[in-house]
Amino acid sequence: MALTFDDGPGRSTNSLLDELDKSDTPATFFLIGRQVQKYPKTVQRMANAGHQLGNHTWDHSDLTTLSDKQIKQKVAWTSTAIEKITGDKPSVFRPPMGRHNPAIDKLIPLPLVLWDINTRDGRHHDPQQTMSIAMDNVQPGSIILMHDVHATTVKAVPELISRLKAQGYTPVTVDQLLDGKLQNSVAYSFAPHAGVQR
Ligand SMILES: [Zn+2]
Repeated sequence: MALTFDDGPGRSTNSLLDELDKSDTPATFFLIGRQVQKYPKTVQRMANAGHQLGNHTWDHSDLTTLSDKQIKQKVAWTSTAIEKITGDKPSVFRPPMGRHNPAIDKLIPLPLVLWDINTRDGRHHDPQQTMSIAMDNVQPGSIILMHDVHATTVKAVPELISRLKAQGYTPVTVDQLLDGKLQNSVAYSFAPHAGVQR
């Protein structure tokens, strides 16, 4: 399964990275370009620690309200901002609020990664609920949506990781979960093959 964190980097991101370090757990971060510019050191730290970096647009706008040109720009600016810091362009994209459609997908020069479990962490701000929504719904191949910009989410992470591991789950990056078989302009929300023994 994959832990994914959206909308950062923010003020809580460094403490999340500390927690992930402690348990040697890889995660995938869907970054907002504007925030990348504010927290370049945090972005560099994510990349150095082996986390996967994804593009979450420049300013978190709802893509269904934008022109084709605006969509392409907000994605391209973000990829460039990340590349300037880490030397690598992000390999995946997540549309803000999960809002996309086939016409938008065609404009995105990256695979679109959605989720199958939304912890709604930004709504309830309750570490206990974040953890129980994740644990009640997780299955092999799951992609769990959380937000590293909330301190209450960071608080949920150590316990969540230890419970997942106790149940036999191995947290991996989205690329590892989907086995490198991702195609540009195609949307993924789950890895159906992940439970199959290989
Ligand atoms: Zn978001």
